[in-house]
Amino acid sequence: MSSKKSRAAARKRRENLGVILRLVFCPPLGLYLMWTRTRWPRLVKVGASALIALALALILTPLTDPPARQTGGVRVVGDRLQVDVLGPEAPSDREAIDVYTPRRTAIIVDPTPTPQPIIVYCNQGGKYYHMKECKYVRDTTPSVTLAQALRAGYKPCPDCDAPEAVS
Ligand SMILES: [Zn+2]
Repeated sequence: MSSKKSRAAARKRRENLGVILRLVFCPPLGLYLMWTRTRWPRLVKVGASALIALALALILTPLTDPPARQTGGVRVVGDRLQVDVLGPEAPSDREAIDVYTPRRTAIIVDPTPTPQPIIVYCNQGGKYYHMKECKYVRDTTPSVTLAQALRAGYKPCPDCDAPEAVS
């Protein structure tokens, strides 16, 4: 009878120990088991729950805080924006060193100028070709190139100093 009682008590202890272990290592399962399976005083259950909630809050709080600005490791040594960075001394004869610098040479290609044809004016049935300003040139006087006028047998007008040939 007493042994049976002690076995039951031992089983109860094992169960309690299991619940406590779960409370420590797996709080949600531990809380569930504590509230449903044990007959612990209500105050103990509430206290354990509060403790676990507090522990969870402590664990999670740093994760939800914005990351603190790191202040260590950096030392402000001056407030000047520009800092002189000193490299190794330049050799004293640096200017004398002949450094080959390729120069870009522009290749200029002169386009062959297209000669502007000289335009002269020839009246129908006339003998001479004229410049535009000549008094014999009217609005209706057809214009041709000097070469065409010469080929057609026209002569330069003596009044308007028309050019004699294609230069
Ligand atoms: Zn003329």
